[in-house]
Amino acid sequence: HGDSAAADRRVDSVCPYCGVGCQLTYHIKDDEILFVEGRDGPSNANRLCVKGRFGYDYPRHPSRLTTPLIRKPRIAKGIDPAFDPANPLTHFREASWDEALDVAARGLVDLKAAHGPAALAGFGSAKCSNEEAWLFQKLVRTGFGSNHVDHCTRLCHASSVAALMECIGSGAVTASFMQASEADVVILTGCNPAVNHPVAATFFKQAAKRGTKILILDPRGQALDAYAHRSVRFSPGADVALFNAMLNVIITEGLYDEAYIAQHTEGFEALEAHVVDMTPEAMSGLCGVEPETIREVARLYATAERAMIFWGMGISQHTHGTDNARCLISLALACGQTGRPGTGLHPLRGQNNVQGASDAGLIPMVMPDYQPVSDAQVRAAFEELWNTPLDPEPGLTVVEIMDAIHAGTIKGMYIQGENPAMSDPDLEHARQALGELEHLVVQDLFVTETAQFADVILPASAWPEKDGSVTNTNRQVQLGRAALPLPGQAKPDWWIIQEIAKRFGLGWDYQHPRDVFAEMKRGMPSLDHISWERLEREQSVTYPCPAEDAPGADVVFSDAFPTASGRAKFSPTRPLPPDEPVDDAFPTVLTTGRQLEHWHTGSMTRRATVLDDLEPEAVASLAPGELARLGLAPGDALTITTRRGAITLRARIDPAMPEGMVFVPFCYGEAAANLLTNPALDPYGKIPEFKYAACRLSPADAA
Ligand code: SF4
Repeated sequence: HGDSAAADRRVDSVCPYCGVGCQLTYHIKDDEILFVEGRDGPSNANRLCVKGRFGYDYPRHPSRLTTPLIRKPRIAKGIDPAFDPANPLTHFREASWDEALDVAARGLVDLKAAHGPAALAGFGSAKCSNEEAWLFQKLVRTGFGSNHVDHCTRLCHASSVAALMECIGSGAVTASFMQASEADVVILTGCNPAVNHPVAATFFKQAAKRGTKILILDPRGQALDAYAHRSVRFSPGADVALFNAMLNVIITEGLYDEAYIAQHTEGFEALEAHVVDMTPEAMSGLCGVEPETIREVARLYATAERAMIFWGMGISQHTHGTDNARCLISLALACGQTGRPGTGLHPLRGQNNVQGASDAGLIPMVMPDYQPVSDAQVRAAFEELWNTPLDPEPGLTVVEIMDAIHAGTIKGMYIQGENPAMSDPDLEHARQALGELEHLVVQDLFVTETAQFADVILPASAWPEKDGSVTNTNRQVQLGRAALPLPGQAKPDWWIIQEIAKRFGLGWDYQHPRDVFAEMKRGMPSLDHISWERLEREQSVTYPCPAEDAPGADVVFSDAFPTASGRAKFSPTRPLPPDEPVDDAFPTVLTTGRQLEHWHTGSMTRRATVLDDLEPEAVASLAPGELARLGLAPGDALTITTRRGAITLRARIDPAMPEGMVFVPFCYGEAAANLLTNPALDPYGKIPEFKYAACRLSPADAA
């Protein structure tokens, strides 16, 4: 805590980092943030983690973009090791806003005129507001003229959403994480909340202290193991084998909820027949868990009065990510563990606004609120709202867009606040694609790795500099408020998108994000009974919300599911191997993810003084035995090689790691984990297999 008497003003807002959506207050003096304090929001109850509390000074970093930039002639696009983001004028020249916007838009307009609408694509941002996401997808659909718009949900929970949409007709969580306190049993699988959703982890710890049995199912150990009733480590990539064996136990022992299945579901008989052979004994070899342990966790979940399942990227980022999520949904449906307090399905969302950006339509196959672009009635409604004909073809996804650039069909892109030159799998391939674009416009806070490929860079607004709504993992819509003035000539993202739209001949005239929110309410039934004024007054409203004066629904689908029949559907799955199994040449499993102190590609947290001091350099985590086998001590340089590339970084000892596996955070540009990752996609969610690639480890000097 800082000295609040020293502040000359306070601004209530929301944390800019993870999907927990902690409410906070900026204490400000002379237009600088002195310190940050947690507020009593529904998802944080005054708490903040290290990122929310100390990661606030990145907007004032010396390398912050404050002027529009245009690439100098004859300067090659790409990552130049000699480039200094704090001194971009070696590669770019400063431009006025009018010139930069004209050059940015003209390049895109000319490509559309020469090659048609499908030659353009856009990546919006899960770090921006709902209003900015809405405007960005509207620009792509009505200005560019295609549905080639996506964002980092494709690298995050796209497979979870695909499974949830298929099985229960809705992609959002069925209950908030605060409901864990009502549950008798909580399964945490493929997630590491103490690192990635730290304040949500405090709710799990409190629940455990009050008697909730926490079951952790994961290949890796984690800090929450100390609070777990049972912590089960299974073989990497063997999720489906484990979950199907649990379903087999539940069915053969008659532990399922017959009345719930009869009233609320369809397809149970097919599931029953499907898992009949997948006994714990049959699956034990595949998943590496003793049959009795499988039986124990299955019985605990099925016989609990109230139970919830939480999952993260360890479930979703696989070529069988959709199958993993289908299994979790089947477990909940078979046991009647949804629709009541203390029950539910909850994919923990990663970025602060990945839920809201997805709801607002930054997805190529669906319009806002997940309404299919291929549905003529849906298109007709949006054509009337926007007074423009819309393309009936679903657009391409993140990795598909990179492939289309290589194929020469996509030639121009507008990227707002995303960093695919760090976040995409098989980065060499992705970076080559960015270099092949005939015209690239990047809108960001810094000259990111992606901006180093740009023709034009537009200086945008940081979260503490803007007004806008944001939706967290619990479906809680909250307001971010501008606390700091914009530096130099930087502009709000919504203003920049509108200026590009005007140059596409679109007659937009929004004066404030609240005008955009009012339009969103006309296309998004999920926002019924939620107004800007209500958000100002109440700070947080959960959707769906039944009335202006009613609280939103923390738990949904008590009576029926939003499917054609009102019933949820079982979707049986079979265990599949990872796309790139380990072998003699590449015998170790590489898995990637985040650290507590750094967030995603590090563009913000590596420029936050305290956070970067805590974790200043690239590290790889290994089991003690693995390190000993390599003849390395903690801190020694380690080289990791896959079929796509090699990186060298420091080895860190981590007793929570299993033997035969290495973990690398993907936020370090100097040793980019995604140079190594496998771009193979889940066929349904189109998400890459970030959680499993075959690699080889060696001491750096022996590589
Ligand atoms: Fe911010 Fe997430 Fe930490 Fe809360 S838990 S302070 S939202 S990073």
